[in-house]
Amino acid sequence: MKIKETIFSKIIKHEIKADIIYQDKLVTAFHNINPKAKYHILIVTNKIIPTVNCVTNSDELMLGRLFTVAAKISKELGISKNGYRLIVNCNADAGQEIFHIHMHLLGGNLLKDI
Ligand code: AMP
Repeated sequence: MKIKETIFSKIIKHEIKADIIYQDKLVTAFHNINPKAKYHILIVTNKIIPTVNCVTNSDELMLGRLFTVAAKISKELGISKNGYRLIVNCNADAGQEIFHIHMHLLGGNLLKDI
């Protein structure tokens, strides 16, 4: 299957502007353009994997990095103690819009109806 470029892969390569707050060899994190909370960060795998249905064992290190980076960013934002929500959408029923695996980190206020 030919993997298509995504808006996120262009952000990762700095071809499209975004407010990037973290990047390493495996993942990139930036502010959501349409935030649903005070802080709404997207943590994206640098490799294009369209959905969770496509992950394989060889992706485990990279997928684990989504969590370690979420923990690091939440501490830096000062929201780790009060709490935050992590979401990964898969396909239409979950409302996935960008077919490039990413974790939403939402926090900074009480998350009720998000
Ligand atoms: P999902 O529904 O899980 O695929 O989430 C995609 C998210 O990407 C949405 O919350 C969008 O607001 C966000 N998004 C789309 N384009 C951009 C962009 N250029 N920069 C930052 N966030 C974006």
